[in-house]
Amino acid sequence: MAQFPAGHVPLTGSWFGWFNRQPRSIDIDLWTETRRSVPLLRGLDEARDAILQTLVARFLHDKTITPLADLVLDAAARMQLAALCCLPLTGFGEKGLRGWSQLLVYPEAFRVQRSHEDAAGVLHEFEDELIGESWEAGPLILSWADVQADLADPFAGYCVAIHEMAHKLDALDGAMDGTPPLPRHWHREWAADFQREYDAFCKEVDRGRETAIDAYASESPEEFFAVTSEYHFSAPALLQAEMPKVAAHLQRFYSP
Ligand SMILES: [Zn+2]
Repeated sequence: MAQFPAGHVPLTGSWFGWFNRQPRSIDIDLWTETRRSVPLLRGLDEARDAILQTLVARFLHDKTITPLADLVLDAAARMQLAALCCLPLTGFGEKGLRGWSQLLVYPEAFRVQRSHEDAAGVLHEFEDELIGESWEAGPLILSWADVQADLADPFAGYCVAIHEMAHKLDALDGAMDGTPPLPRHWHREWAADFQREYDAFCKEVDRGRETAIDAYASESPEEFFAVTSEYHFSAPALLQAEMPKVAAHLQRFYSP
């Protein structure tokens, strides 16, 4: 069974002061509109709102947002995307934006070519349809239709932008393995608690039981982290009831 690594990957000094350029300040009218149009932002207190505004300004300054095919993204749409991507960073800070520069946005779900070598060494090629993708040191990719679906049904446990940003946070310590960069003793606790919940969850899924949390979380430790992160923001009571230890770690990790 896949493992959450208990080994510690040290944070280096280069993490801090990563960004030197000053971002432009945020358009406050547009921000007010964003607070209204993104339901997950409604509960933010003043302090967290201020942190998020700074992150969004940084995001809009540093990232290239590229609409693909015939998609057009106006300033309001770009700010919605920035706000959703930055929401998981209010605890971790702007060093969470490190390591990539492009947000690509498809109008709808998109197809990618995959290949996989099985245990017998036979190469299988197939097509996958995705609503989001996060490259370890490359772009973050989202389907605009699915971002809109999340905005329309914000407390159902799904948010593709948060899912992909969780992968970005996970990859920051050099390995996408279900554990973002954490201080040493917390890392050990996190790995043990996530492993326990993940193993139990995989067992339920393997038995064919209907699970309250999306069964996709049983795919791998990194998907478990990304999926439970979606629940943390969009259905926290459900996550708390189903996986209290995971919920507590995520609460600590995602809070300022
Ligand atoms: Zn994923």
